Amino acid sequence: MTIVVNGFDFHCHVDLFPDPAALIADCDRNHIVTLAVTTTPKAWTQNRRWTKRSNFVIPAIGLHPELADQRRAEIALVEQLMAESPFVGEVGLDGSPPHRRTLPIQKEVFSRVLQSAQTLGARVLTIHSRRAGREVLASLVEHTTPERVLPILHWFSDSVATAVEAARFGCYFSINHRMLSADSGISLIKSLPADRLLTETDAPFTEIENRKSEPRDVTAMISRLAQLRNLPVEEMKRIVTGNAEHVLAFAGVSIPFSDR
Ligand SMILES: [Zn+2]
Repeated sequence: MTIVVNGFDFHCHVDLFPDPAALIADCDRNHIVTLAVTTTPKAWTQNRRWTKRSNFVIPAIGLHPELADQRRAEIALVEQLMAESPFVGEVGLDGSPPHRRTLPIQKEVFSRVLQSAQTLGARVLTIHSRRAGREVLASLVEHTTPERVLPILHWFSDSVATAVEAARFGCYFSINHRMLSADSGISLIKSLPADRLLTETDAPFTEIENRKSEPRDVTAMISRLAQLRNLPVEEMKRIVTGNAEHVLAFAGVSIPFSDR
């Protein structure tokens, strides 16, 4: 049976919504494949329980770089739970002023995540890289190979040169609508190879028309991307769907996910 998918949200904090169950039901109703990221491994059990009966929402195990310092002991739990989850996130590095101080610890935690992913293989990571794009790429090159780990750089805001280099290494890029309001985001979208483009919301941390964004908002992203890339909307939809299917197949999952 062919399942119609209307969109892909590769980075959504489902567990930070006031009613995660309702949001998941909404994704199922609207056929939006959604990667439910977490910021601490302690959220994994709950996240997995919520998503268990969903056909469209997939849980991911994560440890956010902003929490890496305070929760560094939880890396052991991340490593343990990664065995159960082909999707990992939110992980990465944050070099912005409030977090720059903890970069050495963040790097230690991120390296261990990457090493585990490399050992396990068939792991898809959704990666935060604010003000640390080069460091993230260096860590990926040091610890992983594209045959075993597929990195998605989420809300990438570093230079186009770094992005192109990362794409050459095998990185994908999940684009949210906030990136479309910055010149840097627009040049990034125009410069990346089409076969590396994905969509996301980073909800509930982004807003659309004065309300919190939700996974179903990714459908509107396709026409914006098409416009920027000078392609017909249908063609853009076909490209993003193909990319998304490749990423899901890399992790060994197919739609629907109900057999989990
Ligand atoms: Zn996030």
